[in-house]
Amino acid sequence: MSVSMASGRRVLLVEDDSSIGAGLVAALAGAAYEVRWARTAQEARALLAGRDADLVLLDLGLPDGDGIELCRDLRATDDQVVVVVVTARTDEADAVLALDAGADDYITKPFRVVELLARVRAHLRRRDAAGPDDVRVGRLRLDRRGRRVWIDQTELVLRPKELELLSMLVAYAGTAVRREQLMDEVWDEHWQGSTKTLDVHVANLRRKLADAGDRWDRIATLRGYGYRYEAD
Ligand code: CA
Repeated sequence: MSVSMASGRRVLLVEDDSSIGAGLVAALAGAAYEVRWARTAQEARALLAGRDADLVLLDLGLPDGDGIELCRDLRATDDQVVVVVVTARTDEADAVLALDAGADDYITKPFRVVELLARVRAHLRRRDAAGPDDVRVGRLRLDRRGRRVWIDQTELVLRPKELELLSMLVAYAGTAVRREQLMDEVWDEHWQGSTKTLDVHVANLRRKLADAGDRWDRIATLRGYGYRYEAD
């Protein structure tokens, strides 16, 4: 089963329980994640072969296999994907085994959906922050650790939120990013209706990029949607 939402991060849900699975798919899709749902270990392996998940929510008790084994196999081939084990409370010893097998976290059932979403968001943010230290897109170079940005040889002087916003847009270079996602991840709060702060920061970034000799329209506005850092 596949539920597609625009431009979200990709979550693979591995869960054989229909009602838990349906609830999580709805919650994740509602939070703009691109969700795929595997109900068996075999289905999960087939979907994971494409290596196109940012995060895996993994139930341990699957009808045709063991989630821990799946976790170990996944970790052996992909050290970037975030694995969060979702397990029944009585399986807590299994959760520890799962952490040993390379899972990043575990959540016990029953769980509150808001808490699960908060954990998912935090893990993805942490993974982004731990991304490559040095990023180059076209004429731009970003040194994450040093928090410095250059266009060719010209260094940009950016305020902290401008740097975080630019880092995120650059991380998704060539891809549209929703306003809500930018607000949520850069300002660490849910979008409240006014995104004037975001627009002001984008305007400042455009001016600073242009002052350094880059295109004024390097950051494209997508009306009614968000922004895209042009990768050309
Ligand atoms: Ca199960």
